[in-house]
Amino acid sequence: MPSVVEIQERLAQIPCPICKKSNFVMHPRSDQSYAEALYTAQCADCHYTFQVSTLTKPIHQTDPDVAQWLGSLGCPSCQKQGAEMNFRCVPSVRDCYYFVTCQSCRHPFYEKSPMEAFE
Ligand SMILES: [Zn+2]
Ligand SMILES: [Zn+2]
Repeated sequence: MPSVVEIQERLAQIPCPICKKSNFVMHPRSDQSYAEALYTAQCADCHYTFQVSTLTKPIHQTDPDVAQWLGSLGCPSCQKQGAEMNFRCVPSVRDCYYFVTCQSCRHPFYEKSPMEAFE
């Protein structure tokens, strides 16, 4: 599972949905849902907050559709398919980002959730 520091560093790759800056502070929370550990990320500029979560159970057990989608993701570095999930965040109601690592070359990258496409 990624550390809070690692999550904070990787979150800097996405913009704040409100002010478009990329400067987030992580607030670990004690909450834990059935299969996820929950955190709050706060924008250091506009103080907007959103939820970040890491999985505490294998994703193929809890979310088979997402697991299948991760398996089909192409790595931007080595072009091979297959990524493992590190954490996800929901900066706004319409956005969900998955931060993943390539299973072949360990390149970290992120993808926007495809779930909107199913609406
Ligand atoms: Zn902001
Ligand atoms: Zn790769």
